[in-house]
Amino acid sequence: MLKEKIKGLAKELKSEVISNRRHLHANPELSYQEFETAEFVRQKLAEIGVSQVEQKATTGWTALIEGKNPTKRIIALRADMDALPIIEANEVSYKSKKNGVMHACGHDAHTASLLGAAKILHSVKDQFEGTIKLIFQPGEEVAPGGASYMIKDGALENPRPSGIIGQHVMPFIPAGKVGFRQGIYMASADELYITVKGKGGHGAMPETLIDPVLISSHLIVALQQVVSRAANPKVPSVLSFGRVEALGATNVIPNEVKIQGTFRTLNEDWRAQAHQKMLQIAKGLVEGMGGEVDFEIRKGYPFLQNDPELTARATLAAKEYLGEENVLDLDIWMAAEDFAYYSQEIDGCFYRLGTRNEEKGIVSSVHTPTFDIDEDALEIGAGLMAWLAVSELEKA
Ligand SMILES: [Zn+2]
Ligand SMILES: [Zn+2]
Repeated sequence: MLKEKIKGLAKELKSEVISNRRHLHANPELSYQEFETAEFVRQKLAEIGVSQVEQKATTGWTALIEGKNPTKRIIALRADMDALPIIEANEVSYKSKKNGVMHACGHDAHTASLLGAAKILHSVKDQFEGTIKLIFQPGEEVAPGGASYMIKDGALENPRPSGIIGQHVMPFIPAGKVGFRQGIYMASADELYITVKGKGGHGAMPETLIDPVLISSHLIVALQQVVSRAANPKVPSVLSFGRVEALGATNVIPNEVKIQGTFRTLNEDWRAQAHQKMLQIAKGLVEGMGGEVDFEIRKGYPFLQNDPELTARATLAAKEYLGEENVLDLDIWMAAEDFAYYSQEIDGCFYRLGTRNEEKGIVSSVHTPTFDIDEDALEIGAGLMAWLAVSELEKA
């Protein structure tokens, strides 16, 4: 049976997937600079013998694994390859060799898992019908997102897959388990850059000044009404400001205040309305208090929608592979992920690979200097991806 065969191959390949992951972990590269990583992936794909390897978006690749009757149906599997500007604090043999760059989001694990899945799928390609398209993308962590460049560069064409499956490590889920969610799953994320301009001067003479600090204080409070009053309570929205810069002193009121924040939601129409609302409130309030405002909204990734049918089929396949008890239902997650771009083009399923292990002390969140994964999860990372792909080719 193909499932048992894939499980066996995943077990055999586990040490290779771990060693690939360790190589990538020790040699991380920042977004859009994944040159050595891309070369490593290209070599591995050549060793496996996949066909039609094509360079996309400078440091990305697409490749095909063709089964019998290759045009019958096409499904894509995606991995991201970039690391983060973080100084690794883990003392491990595979610690980052680049100071200040770290695979702290598990993209090393995603790339190694997809290479493992590719090797498995290549060795069973006479046992399924259809084609599996591999997508290795750069730049997930930095807007506008490597996925958007991959799509522009034709990653979803020639041949066009009907659906795409992506996996991401999840340090809140124990290794051995995975998580799925049908429908809306992750948020859109937009960066907000506000400059409130007034007229600075001596703090003892406010009557001669236009105080941008006071105006900004009102503005931060007023903007929350977008989330608390204007938003439909059934559509999750988050507005957070993480940076407020007023470079005055106890007795000096500055000329301007800079504010930075993020706006996240799960509906594209509401997202656009909220932008207008924020701009309107800011202009009205700041000008009403005698100041001026520059308000720049840098649009990030769209929200991520998991196609309900594809995700239901994948969830079922995961239950067949791992057992019912090891497949969890996920809640909405207000982080953003550029897999969302693919999910706006074709059916998408973005699921979570559990990588937590409290006994081994592996509990840190992604994007932290102590993030790591329980590498035992990589056997599932490679095997399950392969199984989801062939199941999807068979079932649909
Ligand atoms: Zn990340
Ligand atoms: Zn990530």
